[in-house]
Amino acid sequence: MTFSLRLMAATLEDIAWNLDPLVDNEGEAGVDRLLAEAQERSAAFAERHQGKLAELDGPQLAEAIADLQEISELVGRAGTYAMLRFATNTADPQNGALLQRVQEKATVVETRLVFFELEWAELDDDRVETLLQADGLDTARHHLRTIRRYRPHLLTEAEEKLMSEKAVTGRDAWTRLFNELTSAIEVDLGGEKMALDVALAKLMSSDRELRAQVQQSVTDALQPTLRTRAFVFNTLMADKATDDRLRRYPSWISGRNLANEASDESVQALVEAVRSAYDIPQRWYRLKARLLGIDKLVDYDRMASVASADESFDWDEAKQIVLDSFADFSGVMADSARQFFDEHWIDAPPRPGKRGGAFCSYAVPGAHPYVMLNYTSRRRDVLTLAHELGHGVHAALARPRGIFEHHTPLTLSETASVFGETLVFRRLLDQAATPESRLTLLAEHVEGSIATVFRQVAMNRFEDLAHSARRSEGELSIDRLGALWEQSQHEMLGDSVEITDNYRCWWSYVPHFIGTPGYVYAYAYGQLLALSVYGRYAEEGEAFVPRYIELLSAGGSRSPEELAAIAGLDLTDPGFWARGLELVRGQLGAAEEAAAATLNE
Ligand SMILES: [Zn+2]
Repeated sequence: MTFSLRLMAATLEDIAWNLDPLVDNEGEAGVDRLLAEAQERSAAFAERHQGKLAELDGPQLAEAIADLQEISELVGRAGTYAMLRFATNTADPQNGALLQRVQEKATVVETRLVFFELEWAELDDDRVETLLQADGLDTARHHLRTIRRYRPHLLTEAEEKLMSEKAVTGRDAWTRLFNELTSAIEVDLGGEKMALDVALAKLMSSDRELRAQVQQSVTDALQPTLRTRAFVFNTLMADKATDDRLRRYPSWISGRNLANEASDESVQALVEAVRSAYDIPQRWYRLKARLLGIDKLVDYDRMASVASADESFDWDEAKQIVLDSFADFSGVMADSARQFFDEHWIDAPPRPGKRGGAFCSYAVPGAHPYVMLNYTSRRRDVLTLAHELGHGVHAALARPRGIFEHHTPLTLSETASVFGETLVFRRLLDQAATPESRLTLLAEHVEGSIATVFRQVAMNRFEDLAHSARRSEGELSIDRLGALWEQSQHEMLGDSVEITDNYRCWWSYVPHFIGTPGYVYAYAYGQLLALSVYGRYAEEGEAFVPRYIELLSAGGSRSPEELAAIAGLDLTDPGFWARGLELVRGQLGAAEEAAAATLNE
């Protein structure tokens, strides 16, 4: 009965998410109703509590928190609906207008409630600990404690207000100028004009001449506003030095570490461990040169694809592989993932006007998460499906933690996605039909780790050199910045990759250096932590499963150290990062073996 079989199998085009439950099937009117309710309740909340937080007793605090959680859910529901509707059709002006409206109204609500965190941070420690004993705070205690970690670095209320108001025409304006300058960069590739991202993607081409030409064209395109972008970077580094001095941060990275709930020592230990394993990227790039049939890689060869012909997977195959891989690990995980398919929480096919890439939206704990993909039937897409469903299962299991502790700290946010992806990666590796297909998969795996661990730490080294130099030497010239960039890249690559003079200005389009200084190491931190979680499973097998489910269910209700401890990992152990790096070394070893098989050695 092929007819009934065909009825059962959904085609890719039908895999669209259903956003109606977010707004009680009321569409835009539902969004406006949610926001109106949030505005009304936030005004009432401010009326009742502003300036009076110190007078609350424990039960009253619990009541206030419940109120805040409900207001956040209202805004979160409206925001999620508008954001997801926009993501699937960015070309419809009605969707853009809705998103803008939601953002403006949400800002009004947030601004009205800012006093709560400020007044909470001002209370003294003893009082806070007494208040936190109250019943009804189970989904907020960690959140309430972490808000207070900025306490030693806060200025007076008048100064804070001045800082945030002046930032609009200061730091924020400089950041926007930088973004506008980089967005306007147009690369002329043999007469064809294209955006910077489009040109950079061509570095993956297997045609070496094209790659060299792309590198030259990108370098040329980076020149015209380079002086201005370097000035913006200099200004923002000086601005940060002033902020750090006023806020009493001991180093340029301390504020970022505090935001990540990571100690300066643990971040230092991570960076040093990765630097002492730079032989891993160097070994890979030497092997890659042989796979590409060239003597030695030049900077423009690093991204080149070593892929042979790709295998293709239709939607139902992908779904089956992912669910089977998850089920082999745990029924809880497979059941949670199956809900995404059964209840229309996934939007899968590429469509005109749809946002590129893939993501998981946690939405709000009162609703359920959503996953967006641009599924094109490549093997890479199956891994992406597993990655996003890993996030999705995490979000679904952590729903009971409530809206303040739903999300994990940034450093753990990729744990479940990398884990889900690794489960499926293992299965695809077992199924790979030819040595070439196996090598492609392993090569992508190693390069993923190199990009997330080593490249980000080298970028962190550049930031460290630049911020330190800006503080001791004053304004840095384009030449000086280029030298620091080269120094940080050369340290990672050694003699495995030739760095040309052209490459010296390639720091100048990276938005993280400008908008979120110090951010990049979090990728390395998160990836090594996530690999280590999988490493525990590889060692312990079955016994690990309940601990993993407990870890995901804990959401963001504990510190990174405490969450990692659930999985049996000790982040305070000085050898922790080195062991994580051994897992990457294992990936490299597997890729080297697969390469030997195809190079006929
Ligand atoms: Zn992710």
